[in-house]
Amino acid sequence: MNAPHPQPIALQGAGLVKRFKTGRTHIEVLKSIDFDCRHGEMTMVMGPSGSGKSTLIAALSGLLRPDEGKVTALGEDLWSQRPGRIDKFRLDHCGFIFQGFNLFGALTALQQVTTILKYKGYSPAEARDRAAIALTEVGLGKRLEQRPAELSGGEKQRVAIARALAKDPRLLFADEPTSALDGENGQIVIKLLQRAAKEHGAAVICVTHDPRLEAYADRIIHIEDGRILDDRRTADVAAQAKQSALAGA
Ligand code: ADP
Ligand code: MG
Repeated sequence: MNAPHPQPIALQGAGLVKRFKTGRTHIEVLKSIDFDCRHGEMTMVMGPSGSGKSTLIAALSGLLRPDEGKVTALGEDLWSQRPGRIDKFRLDHCGFIFQGFNLFGALTALQQVTTILKYKGYSPAEARDRAAIALTEVGLGKRLEQRPAELSGGEKQRVAIARALAKDPRLLFADEPTSALDGENGQIVIKLLQRAAKEHGAAVICVTHDPRLEAYADRIIHIEDGRILDDRRTADVAAQAKQSALAGA
């Protein structure tokens, strides 16, 4: 019936627990989370504010060490590595997109992208070419010399996406990437993330509480109070709806 999932697993978390100490109490923010996602797929992580979404992607992406559990990223046991190795892993393989864009105020759109590419080891000329291509792909080919103050919110987020995609990351993490944007710009941004999955084979993990984005997901994970409540592929959802329609006919 259903074809096996064609794409390999890119990222897997097993038994992830994270606690924070606030004053004298510990709060458990991740309560033994099992998570995986595949190359070429857009996985949406949804859930109310404070449910642990940002903590989860921080643990999965090497930004925040979990107290328990294991993260296997592109076949590597991420948290068993030396800190320097984790930093290198992030630089080589991960792209990040945040709600607040996280651009450098003093740099032009082009420089935002070339800086990270040079840091990764590209020559200045290669970095420039790659950056210009990445910015053109997100529709900013004519805005290369603009600084953040001269760009709209939607344009700023597209610069952040170009910066993340220019290094062709295998893992792309987006934390509420559309929440500072209006509907139209949000849609442009989410379609670019979808393209990173479909055309570049990245595993895209997108945290959002915007239900309008569900339509772009291959898989939707609902998290509440540090636990996964629901995990389904949208193809399964569509198939289920079809089945029950047929059963009802
Ligand atoms: P979400 O992204 O779903 O809104 P978060 O992962 O940011 O949720 O946070 C989950 C819970 O953990 C919240 O109650 C938050 O206050 C708490 N929290 C997050 N980071 C820290 C921290 N560094 N120290 C203490 N508590 C934190
Ligand atoms: Mg958050």
